[in-house]
Amino acid sequence: MFKKILVANRGEIALRIQRACRELGIKAVMVYSEADREAKYVKLAEEAVCIGPAASTLSYLNMPAIISAAEVTDAEAIHPGYGFLSENADFAERVEKSGFQFIGPTSESIRIMGDKVSAKQAMIRAGVPCVPGSEGELPDDPAAIRRIAKTVGYPVIIKAAGGGGGRGMRVVHTEAALINAVQMTKAEAGAAFGNPAVYMEKFLQNPRHVEIQIIADKYKNGVYLGERDCSMQRRHQKVLEESPAPGINRKLIERIGERCVAACKKIGYRGAGTFEFLYEDGEFYFIEMNTRVQVEHPVTEMVTGVDIVKTQIMVAAGEKLPFTQRDIVMRGHAIECRVNAEDPYKFTPSPGRITMWHAPGGPGVRVDSHVYTNYFVPPNYDSMIGKIIVHGDTREQAMARMRTALAETVVEGINTNIPLHRELMVDAKFMAGGTNIHYLEHWLEQHKR
Ligand code: ADP
Repeated sequence: MFKKILVANRGEIALRIQRACRELGIKAVMVYSEADREAKYVKLAEEAVCIGPAASTLSYLNMPAIISAAEVTDAEAIHPGYGFLSENADFAERVEKSGFQFIGPTSESIRIMGDKVSAKQAMIRAGVPCVPGSEGELPDDPAAIRRIAKTVGYPVIIKAAGGGGGRGMRVVHTEAALINAVQMTKAEAGAAFGNPAVYMEKFLQNPRHVEIQIIADKYKNGVYLGERDCSMQRRHQKVLEESPAPGINRKLIERIGERCVAACKKIGYRGAGTFEFLYEDGEFYFIEMNTRVQVEHPVTEMVTGVDIVKTQIMVAAGEKLPFTQRDIVMRGHAIECRVNAEDPYKFTPSPGRITMWHAPGGPGVRVDSHVYTNYFVPPNYDSMIGKIIVHGDTREQAMARMRTALAETVVEGINTNIPLHRELMVDAKFMAGGTNIHYLEHWLEQHKR
């Protein structure tokens, strides 16, 4: 096992990884930007290294600064968390070339999955069901593009191979709009992602977003840890997540989970990963794979009892997975609400000093957050300041616990989206379960204030 790991991230996930290291008896080196100097996990760290000014491009995205921090502190491995450099194949490669273990898959796996066209082709070969669409990148010939669209059937969605974060996509309803839309998406993709390749998929009208968590070691042992329903989204950003996904046949989940594990074996995937699917009319359609730990991993931890971050570290150190599929039993129901420093209805960011922070507690309640009373939320980063996660025997009990937890939570000095979560937890349609990816946007339209 490693003796020392460098945590190349900030905020709640940096603290989450630091906690996992402590439990494993590993020293965690924290890196921080000038804006995060006062963070408690930095102060509590055995070792911490300043890697640059507040701007992420100069600190959390600064590969040479991070690698030299690992060198001067004698760390053996680097955990990238999520966001920042976590899915950057060049970074993973540089980490390994500099003699450190990257806590995640190989750079080749990241590269294949980072290009959505090659990811989809790998999934098709591995027998994972995908959204019907073009076989790979769209050709230049307009007549050929029109033929593909006709076969797929309108509406279609044009997506950038290098896209991410909900950008680089365009929905097309008619043939008249097709060629122009392809050209515009190509131009945008070239400018935004440095890769103008685009592909086409059937546009599903009312899907849910359901994803499968997997974890694998380097000896080709892998398991799936059930699913998460992340359909409650605004602008393709997840707002709250739950596990299991309400109302989906368990046998179907098992079949898809087994397919995902088989795909991992086929591509030699190691570490934690998530297969994202759209789910509509009883069918799963793969859209992309995330090759890192996800924000919403705690709901899976709560229902399976598996510590995903600790397991990530163990498999990166070359250990065998400590469990098999038969050991994984999903118990009860978990829900996570992301707490963002923002106006709850206008969504404008609300950085600044938290004058009062009171976190909820009680049975089945978990709070993953790095903030505290008098913490200053810097304006330079993502607005998420923590997550409230609850577990109950049933979905009803989990929702009741979340309502209690949200009622107990006090955050003063900045705005947060907690009032929005309080409303969603008593919304009849959400409470019934199974809302689709458009539900929250429609709800926000109707509840405009
Ligand atoms: P990104 O990497 O930018 O997040 P994804 O491929 O994961 O891109 O898609 C993001 C979101 O876009 C999905 O969660 C879904 O809301 C929508 N989307 C993507 N592909 C389709 C599709 N074929 N049909 C309907 N919606 C889609």
